[in-house]
Amino acid sequence: MSENVASFLYLVSGVLFIMALRGLSHPTTSRQGNFYGMIGMTIAVVTTLALAIPSPAGFAMILGGLAIGGGIGAVTARRIAMTSMPQLVAAFHSLVGLAAVLVAAAAVYAPESFGIGTVGAIHTQAIIEMALGVAIGAVTFTGSIIAFLKLDGRMSGKPIMLPFRHIINIALAVALVVLVVLMVTTQSNTVFWLIVILSLVLGVLLIIPIGGADMPVVVSMLNSYSGWAAAALGFTLGNLALIITGALVGSSGAILSYIMCKGMNRSFISVILGGFGGETAAAGADDGIQRTVKTGAADDAAYLMMNAQKVIIVPGYGMAVAQAQHALRELADKLKANGVEVKYAIHPVAGRMPGHMNVLLAEANVPYDEVFELEDINSEFAQADVAYVIGANDVTNPSARDDKTSPIYGMPILDVDKARTCLFVKRSLGSGYAGIDNTLFYKDGTMMLLGDAKKMTEEIVKAMGH
Ligand code: NDP
Repeated sequence: MSENVASFLYLVSGVLFIMALRGLSHPTTSRQGNFYGMIGMTIAVVTTLALAIPSPAGFAMILGGLAIGGGIGAVTARRIAMTSMPQLVAAFHSLVGLAAVLVAAAAVYAPESFGIGTVGAIHTQAIIEMALGVAIGAVTFTGSIIAFLKLDGRMSGKPIMLPFRHIINIALAVALVVLVVLMVTTQSNTVFWLIVILSLVLGVLLIIPIGGADMPVVVSMLNSYSGWAAAALGFTLGNLALIITGALVGSSGAILSYIMCKGMNRSFISVILGGFGGETAAAGADDGIQRTVKTGAADDAAYLMMNAQKVIIVPGYGMAVAQAQHALRELADKLKANGVEVKYAIHPVAGRMPGHMNVLLAEANVPYDEVFELEDINSEFAQADVAYVIGANDVTNPSARDDKTSPIYGMPILDVDKARTCLFVKRSLGSGYAGIDNTLFYKDGTMMLLGDAKKMTEEIVKAMGH
């Protein structure tokens, strides 16, 4: 296949990726979007394979890589629980970063194979791309490993605040810029590895201070970094498809991070610089005050909801753990059949990945027009008779609104406490991801329904009768 035909096919796959992103922006068109993405990726992979045919050794290595890497990826993805998806994504991002570092190292030691000059005389443009690519790749690599460890609970989710962290980070960033300039002028292998080491350290330092409820922004930010690392890889390898896809992932990840920052009321700049939120101790947990909790059973919940005019359902991570979405849909159907108005309220960071709740509700065939974003529904809680909070916690915690010392202060929450009754389904009075006590459990209008989300919802459906 000629280079021109390959470039054209890569361009076609790039256009299909853009159409995929467009499709994925709304639930009704997301299947179609996925389909375009799959066709685009097939064209890109087949084109790359076709380009490699003239070199049997290269072709065999690509096939071997596909078999080993694809095999491991397929087995891991099949085994992983839906609730562990964010840490899987973080782990995969780290591999993109590592790949960028390894390809740049290969290009430094064997530039002839990449057609970018000879050792010590690499073309200036190529060396700039490599220096930037390796820096972004190394930051992505270690940053994603830290994110994986935090999300997987292998490392405390609490922020680790080093003294003078901003100064250290800025100093590292300045040193990196100096090293990149040195790399371009001297083409020294030592400088190359110094860039790698400094960037690896920077990746760790950028992510360790971010904790608690702010992790979603980290996930999408690392997604963006991995995209830029892939784009840099594309420049080094002279692969148009990688440049286009990398840039698409990089920019869409950056836009998503920005949207999430806005949704969480956080400053985008402070996220990029690393370290925000959680500066103070978790509030409320052990303040010695005796609190009372009103608990209820499925019968009470069934009675309250069947006699309501309006019920707003607030799903959270616990619904995903319990896989309660189908039972929930049944509950909503019963209520609607009884003339009750039912709506779903989705917080931008509910669950453990962007769109987590929307995907689960769609799986249970909940009509899209019953599902609302925070800003579109928050004012309606005041008119609701019941807020049915199923496995959600942080996204309802009033300390984000009222307690300036809370690590989640400033994050908008779903105003479930404004509903006449708030039914809280969870297994205990334990905290959510951010590790902070939720004062809502102890409020007068709250009734705790302690138990597994699916089991409790099924029992409520049963108690509602026919
Ligand atoms: P939370 O993590 O705040 O709370 C979930 C609650 O579900 C827990 O308190 C737990 O309580 C309960 N739960 C767990 N299993 C079950 C079960 N089987 N049945 C019933 N309840 C159960 O979830 P939210 O959705 O409210 O908030 C999401 C949090 O995750 C936010 O802090 C967000 O920042 C963070 N996050 C979000 C990401 C995203 O992209 N959306 C990514 C990373 C983090 P109990 O143990 O008592 O049952």
